[in-house]
Amino acid sequence: MNIVGGNSGGVFGNRKNIMEKCSACGLCVDSCLLLQEIGEVPLDIATRGPAIEEAFSCNLCELCTAVCPEDLSLAGMFAAKRVEAVANGEFPIYDYRYIYPDRELNVCKLYREKYHIDYNDLPLDKKGAVAFFPGCTMFTYAPAITRAAFNHLQELWPYISLLTDCCGKPLYQMGLRERGESYTGYIKSKLIGLGVKVLITACPNCFYQLRADLAPAGVEVRTIYESWGEGKPGTSSVTIHDSCPDRHEGIFARQVRGVLERLGYQRVEMEHHGTTTFCCGSGGQVSHFRPDLAEALIVRRLEEAGKTGAGILAGYCLSCVLNFARISSGIKVRHALDLLLGLDEDYNGIKERARALFSGPEGEENWQRVMAE
Ligand code: SF4
Ligand code: SF4
Repeated sequence: MNIVGGNSGGVFGNRKNIMEKCSACGLCVDSCLLLQEIGEVPLDIATRGPAIEEAFSCNLCELCTAVCPEDLSLAGMFAAKRVEAVANGEFPIYDYRYIYPDRELNVCKLYREKYHIDYNDLPLDKKGAVAFFPGCTMFTYAPAITRAAFNHLQELWPYISLLTDCCGKPLYQMGLRERGESYTGYIKSKLIGLGVKVLITACPNCFYQLRADLAPAGVEVRTIYESWGEGKPGTSSVTIHDSCPDRHEGIFARQVRGVLERLGYQRVEMEHHGTTTFCCGSGGQVSHFRPDLAEALIVRRLEEAGKTGAGILAGYCLSCVLNFARISSGIKVRHALDLLLGLDEDYNGIKERARALFSGPEGEENWQRVMAE
């Protein structure tokens, strides 16, 4: 199910379903900090209609659906409310244009410009059947992984090219459906124009977003872990944070565990993993709309990771990794690809470096540039 990619069941579809089938058992409330904050069961929320602030506080993580005996989708209801609020001009989404991936300048592009991150020495946007799509968080904030992963893939496919585009999911998450669809059209025609037949992704958000969008165009979307051969052996104990978009199908979850175990890592599981994984706080762009709630989610996850006694908390979505790394917790936080590629990147200071762009003498000027009309 692609909640934010256009198949959310409509503003009435999921809400009506909840009104008809929710037994008010409270299982979802027990799992969700937002529902605990609201203090009502979904039956009551759906009956009165979700508030706009509630919709923009939901991580769209679908943990509620995973624990619900009726498989009800609050994420679908809240996502539809976002679309409605944006379409009616009831939510100031334009205030958040600094994260729109389709703008000429946004925070990711500014970060790459200021910290001199580019890939002009690699085969960027070249015609060919196979392309690597690392995702904008990875190629912005983890250039070492991006390059090492590309080199690894190039050994398997010598003519592979690199695509530094966003998958477009943030637009859908923000309720900008038309803008998202237009961006999806752009990505589709770009890939068709380049002759791409196999697209290798490193981010679960990109994988699930693009797989649905690109299947009709005959482009096969794969994960980078699917054909992973050799890697750097390791013996540390590792606990793996599963990402929300992978919750239902578990493709990344199985592949990452398989590769790490093959290389000798000792796996210990957190209580909430796989279908019941917790959100890292970045889902639904909530770290922009409700930073306090995002912070509480990070702390909840790190506490659970700490209880496992594992030496490493590994994620396979860089947004999750960056969130966990910015709070000091005593557990080493790494991307799964760091372990496989023998890197030891410390992501602790990335968020501060991003924030630094908007402070000091240049800060105001940078802000004006990313917010320019
Ligand atoms: S999608 Fe996630 S944040 Fe939203 S209501 Fe469900 S469990 Fe809570
Ligand atoms: S778990 Fe499902 S049935 Fe139970 S309160 Fe939540 S939405 Fe309703």
